[in-house]
Amino acid sequence: MTGTILQARGLTRRFVANKPLFGEASVVQAVNGIDLDIREGETFAIVGESGCGKSTLARLLSHLIPASEGSVVYNGRDISGLSGKALRDLRREMQFIFQDPFSSLNPRMTVGSLIAEPLRIHGIGTPAERRAKVAELLGKVGLRPEHADRYPHEFSGGQRQRIGIARALATGPKVVIGDEPVSALDVSIQAQVVNILEDLKEELGLTLIIIAHDLAVIRHIADRVAVMYLGEIVELGDAAEVFARPQHPYTEALLSAIPIPMAGARKVQTKIEGDPPNPISPPPGCRFHTRCPYAQEICRTERPRLRDAGPGRQVSCHLAEELALEGIQVEAQARGDAAARRFARYSAAQGQITQVKTPEPIATEE
Ligand code: SF4
Repeated sequence: MTGTILQARGLTRRFVANKPLFGEASVVQAVNGIDLDIREGETFAIVGESGCGKSTLARLLSHLIPASEGSVVYNGRDISGLSGKALRDLRREMQFIFQDPFSSLNPRMTVGSLIAEPLRIHGIGTPAERRAKVAELLGKVGLRPEHADRYPHEFSGGQRQRIGIARALATGPKVVIGDEPVSALDVSIQAQVVNILEDLKEELGLTLIIIAHDLAVIRHIADRVAVMYLGEIVELGDAAEVFARPQHPYTEALLSAIPIPMAGARKVQTKIEGDPPNPISPPPGCRFHTRCPYAQEICRTERPRLRDAGPGRQVSCHLAEELALEGIQVEAQARGDAAARRFARYSAAQGQITQVKTPEPIATEE
């Protein structure tokens, strides 16, 4: 890792929720004053329940939507006001993998056309060069060159997400953002797709930003993790550290939802009750206090700020130093073969799959 590739300062996005005929419109603060530094070459995970603002944050970071306030700097350049060719060049370097492989691929286009489309849009290569690139990309995601002539409906969910990955990689991006890239897939397929992403990240030197509502998905691949609640980051740090020693009760609750295939491995199950509060009128004090099992009087009145809590670590909780929260041990965040072996063990332990490197067979006949 060489330095910061993406930096956000005071990043804020407001949406008008509804505009009555008379009176004030309701405003949702989807992302609220976020500061973030993403390092080149790392896998950075953003996690939290649905509606916490993580997908909006990802779209702000890639300038898919404009910020209401704040700035984003990519490779030393402020991208907040980009338009025209400069914005198209940015798109080439920063690509998205969307959540739903069933709706994100145009069913009327062949797989080859879908993967070549970004190349055509950016004017990259001759038709013959684009065909060669499509074949190469299909190989990289564990599919075959002849699959270029088929249509998305001929593939399984996991295979369609591989096509989505190949399409995202077509322009040779430096940053790939996966917005819940596996949550629409069967659990047994998730590890395969995550593993492909991780292998490609290593091979191509990508910076990977993974959005997930489930910490289990990013457990074995994230270098660092930011936990979001109601539009704000409540905890950030080295993933292994955050998993082993969470400092925010919300992180502890998310961790306690991860299944551990070992009897008695978990002493306490921290449950959070109910739904997140309405983001139009977030509660005063700590935004999490209405659901926090450790809340005290100060939590109801004083808003905790995100503050330093050890090397590379930040947390926003009044009681972070007093609480002894329970985490889970994650093996060292090594890369490559070691990561593949960890996935294999994890998957085998859950009785799901054992061959994580082998693409599932094509469902249709030759
Ligand atoms: Fe819970 Fe209070 Fe910490 Fe908020 S500040 S997470 S309510 S203990």
